[in-house]
Amino acid sequence: MISLKIDEIKKGISNDVTLVAVSKTKPIEMIQQAMQSGHLDFGENKVQELVEKHEALSKDIKWHMIGHLQRNKVKYIASFVHLIHGADSERLINEINKQAKKNNRKIDCLLQFHIARESSKFGFNISEVEEILADNKLEVWQNINIRGVMGMATFTENKSQVKEEFLQLKDYFEILSKKINSDSFNIISMGMSGDYKIAIDCGSNMVRIGSSIFGNR
Ligand SMILES: *Cc1c(COP(=O)(O)O)cnc(C)c1O
Repeated sequence: MISLKIDEIKKGISNDVTLVAVSKTKPIEMIQQAMQSGHLDFGENKVQELVEKHEALSKDIKWHMIGHLQRNKVKYIASFVHLIHGADSERLINEINKQAKKNNRKIDCLLQFHIARESSKFGFNISEVEEILADNKLEVWQNINIRGVMGMATFTENKSQVKEEFLQLKDYFEILSKKINSDSFNIISMGMSGDYKIAIDCGSNMVRIGSSIFGNR
């Protein structure tokens, strides 16, 4: 059994920062090993893998869906998912709301923003979200709890650029926080293996770490 660095990483971050251990592509044995010290937050980016692992493992696990989520797949995870990080379009959120309702629950979601300079199809910009709020959509989405924001910085060695992007996301969080005005809007999910320390310095309170815990994929 190889040793995982999860405890070491946890010791290095403050208690106010939630560590999501990103277990994508890794076998269930490794997740069980990571759970031995009591860790329960795990992240996956593919629906099928998430469903298989949920079925195979303890139901105490809090599963984070961190990848791009297709609308037609929401139904497979709606009964158990703990937090959807990639709510990135109105149509997707409508579907999550519908599936949550079918399961008689509220699903926690983060609004994913496009903050990297790399082009990407995924993620809101701030004016799109402001429009959603102006339309009072949050009241329509009775089965969704918007808990905060999520974003990924550009994959680069340029630390000042990464910092700038994280500060941008923090800024979006502050803007929305004033408008949403709810105590449960309190999550800033940013930071991965290569940049989580910068992210925490910029105000992150949820980091998603895979390769530094489980090894390269
Ligand atoms: C894979 C992934 C991570 C973790 O990446 P590492 O570099 O392995 O820590 C974090 N967030 C998202 C959205 C991912 O897809």
